[in-house]
Amino acid sequence: MTVVNGGVKRAVKAALGQGLLSLRVHRMIEADRGLIVVFHRVNRFPTTDGLTATPEKFEEFCRFFSRYFNVVPLTTFVQALEQGRSVGGMLAITFDDGYLDNYEIAAPILTRLNLPATFFVTTRFIDSEIVPWWDQEIGMVFPWMNWDQVRALHAQGFEIGAHTRTHQDLGVVAGAAALDEIQGSRLDLEDQLGAQVQLFAYPYGREHQIMESNRDLVAQAGFRCCCSSYGGSNTKTTSPLFVRRQPISTWFSSPYELGYEFAALQI
Ligand SMILES: [Zn+2]
Repeated sequence: MTVVNGGVKRAVKAALGQGLLSLRVHRMIEADRGLIVVFHRVNRFPTTDGLTATPEKFEEFCRFFSRYFNVVPLTTFVQALEQGRSVGGMLAITFDDGYLDNYEIAAPILTRLNLPATFFVTTRFIDSEIVPWWDQEIGMVFPWMNWDQVRALHAQGFEIGAHTRTHQDLGVVAGAAALDEIQGSRLDLEDQLGAQVQLFAYPYGREHQIMESNRDLVAQAGFRCCCSSYGGSNTKTTSPLFVRRQPISTWFSSPYELGYEFAALQI
């Protein structure tokens, strides 16, 4: 879940407007920019919150990314930032929260298209029947992956990242509680995967939803990045602890609207 509160639609639409601009600008004058996109659900139960893409729409986006960007694993993107190298034209695909449809629907599409992706999971949602407040708000219940499925994604070569234990707002929660959410989610994942986990995306993702003291905890916990999700793109001078991600919502009527922009620019 990316955006909280009653102003959800307005906030997300504003972010998307900014995103459209970023995408256009990317090719026009800022070829040094790299984009990280974030999805939530991919299924056939459309919702009013803009967080569910149909499988067809998701595949359209993926084909679009494939056509216009160099789609790389997020770790590759972060490594370039760590080394101060250009991320121009790079794009990383990410998912937040850990919905079951990520495993059942999105991953097979990504595999078929040979595209890498990172799944940020809220570790205490995995294998649970928790219905988060934002799904309660729209009267929907979407299941979570179980640990076997998260491990299967990892075994298939997808990256697994941490998204806290219980999806707390790190702009509000501090100290020991924040440490438990941040470091704890890494411990949960490493315990379940038997592998190192180095990528972190903070819940809700807006600018004010992580305190600087909590960003420090993310670094101290050994994560190599701290991803937001309020839109925008990244350059080689972007700190890995301030990575910008662009939410891709169903309010984009078609990625090919963007594609035509890109195509026109390339002529
Ligand atoms: Zn989330």
